[in-house]
Amino acid sequence: EAVTAMDEAAVRRNDRAYVFHSWSAQAKIDPLPIASAEGSYFTDYEGRRYLDFSSQLVNVNIGYQHPRLVTAIQEQAARLTTISPAFANDARSEAARMIVEVAPATMDKVFFTNGGADANENAVRMARLHTGRQKVLAAYRSYHGATAGAITLTGDPRRWGSEPAQPGVVHYWGPYLYRSAFHATTQEQECERALQHLRDTLMVEGAHTVAAIILETVVGTNGILVPPDGYLAGVREICDEHGIVMIADEVMSGFGRCGEWFAIDHWGVAPDLISFAKGVNSGYVPIGGVVISGDIAATFDDTSYPGGLTYSGHPLACASAVASMTIFKDEGILENARHLGSVIGPELEALAADHPSVGETRGLGVFWALELVKDRETREPLVPYNAAGAAAGPMNEFAAACKERGLWPFTHFNRTHVVPPCTTTEAEVREGLAVLDEALKVADSYSTG
Ligand code: PLP
Repeated sequence: EAVTAMDEAAVRRNDRAYVFHSWSAQAKIDPLPIASAEGSYFTDYEGRRYLDFSSQLVNVNIGYQHPRLVTAIQEQAARLTTISPAFANDARSEAARMIVEVAPATMDKVFFTNGGADANENAVRMARLHTGRQKVLAAYRSYHGATAGAITLTGDPRRWGSEPAQPGVVHYWGPYLYRSAFHATTQEQECERALQHLRDTLMVEGAHTVAAIILETVVGTNGILVPPDGYLAGVREICDEHGIVMIADEVMSGFGRCGEWFAIDHWGVAPDLISFAKGVNSGYVPIGGVVISGDIAATFDDTSYPGGLTYSGHPLACASAVASMTIFKDEGILENARHLGSVIGPELEALAADHPSVGETRGLGVFWALELVKDRETREPLVPYNAAGAAAGPMNEFAAACKERGLWPFTHFNRTHVVPPCTTTEAEVREGLAVLDEALKVADSYSTG
């Protein structure tokens, strides 16, 4: 009650005095106090309502305060709020069963974590123990989390501040036709060359020293990079050839974001391990995990698994995952995500046609990016590729123009992503796209077209 009684000034004052924020220079931020949220909107203390085109950190897939999900959490809290991972628990076993049910047929078990980073830590640990090898290949232009191992896997500037990183991780380039590392001009070329580059990397690294290849099925914060058809199947083939574990990081791309339970379903490929978090329960209670193939799970049938977490399979979190997946099924949320994709795709193309600052649009489901450029010919990004550039004027001004008009955008470097909740209505999406249309004029003013 003391918390609900607090006014905006008190929230702000205590935040500035006591809260140490992620990824921030503490003296240079002024976090907006949020009073409430519902559906696809959140509201500040001034009563300003924002349509959320970010889903926070691309995790509120079911939207805010879904009544059935809130009730399920309240009921579980009243029944059993915590129990150690060493016991069996109904919420946990049902969550695991439901996740295995929607995962590729070769996958048998779930290890629960607190979020995405520790899911990746454990996936890598499992791969190393299963293969008896140490090295891991991870993609440039990736994000895998901020714990020691996960930030080492990460292939973007978020790793720089944590270096020297852990030994044993080698980075490679994935497919990204718009800024091809392979000078490709078609998706087919990009796919073929990216796979050849992976084979070449394995050749010089020694494929027999590599435990795992980890990749985001659809790369998230680094630009919604949708792999060309054939790429994931090619990676699967390479892994099979060399006895390497294929880890799909679906922390951001899973649970509806791409219109499927797992994004990889879109290409019909079965990885050995899938890490998940975010959309599994939309972050109403922290949870993540690793879906494990029968083969890898069997490695730990008679040999103890050397890893664990006090809150692994937390009943409150697991009950919310069960409820969320049930709601997804009952309310056709995957179908809605796919439908929104069929609306957003063409609308973004129309925006690109009207705005010289839009170099490319790409995505699927409710997972889209607009790449903003100074010059469409040279594809020079609207802001430079570095941490300072990410916070630079033009992108800030663009974001401010969105916020003034009641839209909360997701921006990262020179991109804005269109990643609303999977439950957003078509009308809401169109409302947000109309704001983007206005705000892009700011970006246009920095672009020569
Ligand atoms: N993997 C991917 C693809 C992510 O996008 C994220 C978070 O943005 C993570 C891992 C890390 O998840 P968490 O922040 O829950 O540790």
